[in-house]
Amino acid sequence: MPTTNNADNGHAFRHNVEQMVNRAMAVLDIEPLLAEAIKACHAVLQVKFPVRIQGQIQVFTGWRATHSEHLLPAKGGIRFAPHVCQDEVEALAALMTYKCALVDVPFGGAKGALVIDPQQYAEDDLRKIVTRFTRSLASKGFIHPATNVPAPDMGCGAREMAWIADAYRQLYPEDLNASACVTGKPLDYGGIAGRTEATGRGIQYALREFFRHPEDLAAAGLQGDLAGQRIVVQGLGNVGFHAARFLAEEDGAKIIAIAEKDGALLNPDGLPVAKVREYMDQHGTVRGFPDADFVENPALALESDCDILILAAMERQIHAANAAHVRARLIVEGANGPITCEGESILQQNDITILPDIFANAGGVVVSYFEWTKNLSHMRFGRMNGVNELALVRSGLDDTMRQAYNDMKTAMANESRIKDLRTAAYVIAVNKIARWYKNLGII
Ligand code: NAD
Repeated sequence: MPTTNNADNGHAFRHNVEQMVNRAMAVLDIEPLLAEAIKACHAVLQVKFPVRIQGQIQVFTGWRATHSEHLLPAKGGIRFAPHVCQDEVEALAALMTYKCALVDVPFGGAKGALVIDPQQYAEDDLRKIVTRFTRSLASKGFIHPATNVPAPDMGCGAREMAWIADAYRQLYPEDLNASACVTGKPLDYGGIAGRTEATGRGIQYALREFFRHPEDLAAAGLQGDLAGQRIVVQGLGNVGFHAARFLAEEDGAKIIAIAEKDGALLNPDGLPVAKVREYMDQHGTVRGFPDADFVENPALALESDCDILILAAMERQIHAANAAHVRARLIVEGANGPITCEGESILQQNDITILPDIFANAGGVVVSYFEWTKNLSHMRFGRMNGVNELALVRSGLDDTMRQAYNDMKTAMANESRIKDLRTAAYVIAVNKIARWYKNLGII
């Protein structure tokens, strides 16, 4: 039976996000009441619903949190995980608000979660659970193409998004825009080319932009281009796999370590990312993969001597206890909230540069935005002028990542109190949201 026992982690994660926002708000001198309005999570729905699995009734728990509705729909993934709690969902929803604002995606922020270990269920049972979950959320207005649009997050992907779209369509067959109720769908079920790999692709584009700035490379203690850079990746799921694969196969970087949940693979000459993933899919573990050293404790891989560390597993992985051991020069937050505030202070003292989550992993929501507008237009991009949809998606994503990076740089150049990219990202995001509130005359 699913349980929730992640309360401490969720609470700390939420507190962490608030601290990061507070730092930016201090730079902006935001008035306290407006600050409260921006930080408040507007609505949270908890659902409990029964499903008959193999003859037995099981009761599942899920949430959908809408952090902001200054723009609609509110947007954010649904996480399928055995240990997840409401605080975690609210922290993730808040990150979506700031992420969308930073990269100019005209959405509010939301997030959802279902307490489940998906690997414990047969496909048919999982479909029943997802369908029931969708009905529970949609019937209370927490899934809707105009107001609240989920996407994949940890533990789920295009298949589950198709089930959500299907369940929604069955509930509201007269809704012409039903397929826009969720993004990250399969290409032949209302999805868009390039969505599955979008977050990993966004990381690649973010890194390419970083490497176009010699002064930033020098500050991080790096040089040259991406070719030959030694990269460690934590988490070989959707985000980590695609990022690692593109960086190795297209940019010539060397993936010298992959940390997964039950151990890490190391090879200073570079690991074949696609083969590792194939092996992991077949065996359910990276243990036993040939031509690599294996270490039992995956956290040790984060302390490897390397140039770039990509954190693409989960929150709170670098913290007060291990930050001083990190030897990477640049850390990319593919996951949401993988570095605590305490960990970040130590990394900063050691002059380690961080590409913050609300920038580095924004590729997913950017391409979700493209998918949503495609669904509303009922026509694939490029059809009227003979242009390939994938090429349009990639160039739109690349432009967005480049623009956001340069916006952060400009913010730092214009305000001496902004000392790092994360604060810059939050200053830009909070400033946009504050302007919106002021224009509306709420405060
Ligand atoms: P996923 O479930 O596809 O992959 C996560 C991977 O991390 C899994 O392979 C899992 O085994 C591994 N893992 C779990 N705990 C680990 C540990 N302690 N050490 C090493 N590996 C571990 O999830 P995902 O969709 O790739 O999401 C990963 C992170 O990226 C999450 O924080 C998520 O919120 C964030 N994110 C995802 C997307 C997206 O489009 N999927 C977009 C933005 C941000």
